[in-house]
Amino acid sequence: MEKLVMTPGPTFIHEDVRRAMAKEITNPDLDLEFYELYKNTCDGLKKILNTKEDVIILSGEGILGLEAACASLIEEGDKVLCIENGIFGEGFGDFVEIYGGEVTYFRGDRRKGLEYHLLEEFLKEENNFKVATLVHCETPSGITNNVEDICKLLNSYGIITVVDAVASIGGETIKVDEWKIDIVLGGSQKCLSAPPGLTFMSVSERAYKAMKTRKSKIRGFYLNLLIWQGWYENKWFPYTQPISDIYALNEAVSRMVNDKERIKRHKRIAEACRASLEVAGLELFTCDSHSNTVTTVLLPEKINFSEFNKIMLEEHNVMIAGAFGFLKDKVFRIGHMGENCRVGRMVETLKALNETFNKLGVVIKEDLHITFLKKLK
Ligand SMILES: *Cc1c(COP(=O)(O)O)cnc(C)c1O
Repeated sequence: MEKLVMTPGPTFIHEDVRRAMAKEITNPDLDLEFYELYKNTCDGLKKILNTKEDVIILSGEGILGLEAACASLIEEGDKVLCIENGIFGEGFGDFVEIYGGEVTYFRGDRRKGLEYHLLEEFLKEENNFKVATLVHCETPSGITNNVEDICKLLNSYGIITVVDAVASIGGETIKVDEWKIDIVLGGSQKCLSAPPGLTFMSVSERAYKAMKTRKSKIRGFYLNLLIWQGWYENKWFPYTQPISDIYALNEAVSRMVNDKERIKRHKRIAEACRASLEVAGLELFTCDSHSNTVTTVLLPEKINFSEFNKIMLEEHNVMIAGAFGFLKDKVFRIGHMGENCRVGRMVETLKALNETFNKLGVVIKEDLHITFLKKLK
């Protein structure tokens, strides 16, 4: 029996996307039709991101995108502001340091969205940064940060903005150009619901200029975003492209571009999901700025994640997620992103959660799926 994958990435892959992977393989370096398909994929991503800037796809997971952005922009002695209220935000600092950047952390409450006014105050005192990094959706904690106001603020100080939106692109509104995001980072396996293996990013003119005017060379070839310049005009890829992965991404992107209801659906399903958990007497990890792509819930007292997860998986065939870092064994997460974000899949998941909690002796005040369906109306 097929498992119901409800994790916050990888997500469920639609049959059309899986079939696209089985298309005949041509030589992607030489086949001009493939360049057109590749460009069409980038153009679709531009629509999703609301940008006219360049979009690049790299073969490798989301983390590769984060590292490539840091490697390309940052050199020895560069001052970088890492704005963080969670695991991915904090982790950005490690990449910055690998490439010689001097990191200043601006830290937020881990159960809340980043507080604009505190950052505003901070920047009045200290704003001599070349780059700032931040995360749109903190996937482990289920928070979506106010990237719009923060990036506009950073931009007003001339700071280059790098945003990890791996877990939000497609599920939350994102307007790269209007919000002044210089580099936005995405991944194939989250809301886009394509197989794992690709990362993509938009790169602004300003970001390119910063890369071109570095004092030292970019340390890396695969990590160097400048090697992509002119790939379409010159019909030349810097290295052989993973053609099957690109076919799948192309199909996933065109499904998403044609899905006009996706942002509304994510919001509606996420709100009903949160309501169902709260009515049942469970506690969300987030106090505000709840994500519409992933919900993080505190495990009831005395419930052990691996025991709980084992029942979900073995008795109900539903795959949800725990978390890592400071959240390890403290929470469980439902990934209602991309193709996971469907009423039927949510109802199955919530029913399984009811039964699992019952079995473990946790009192559920009202069946999760009942509240969920009521709230959807
Ligand atoms: C999933 C994710 C990444 C990338 O992780 P991979 O394991 O490389 O796919 C980066 N940032 C965030 C916020 C994510 O959710």
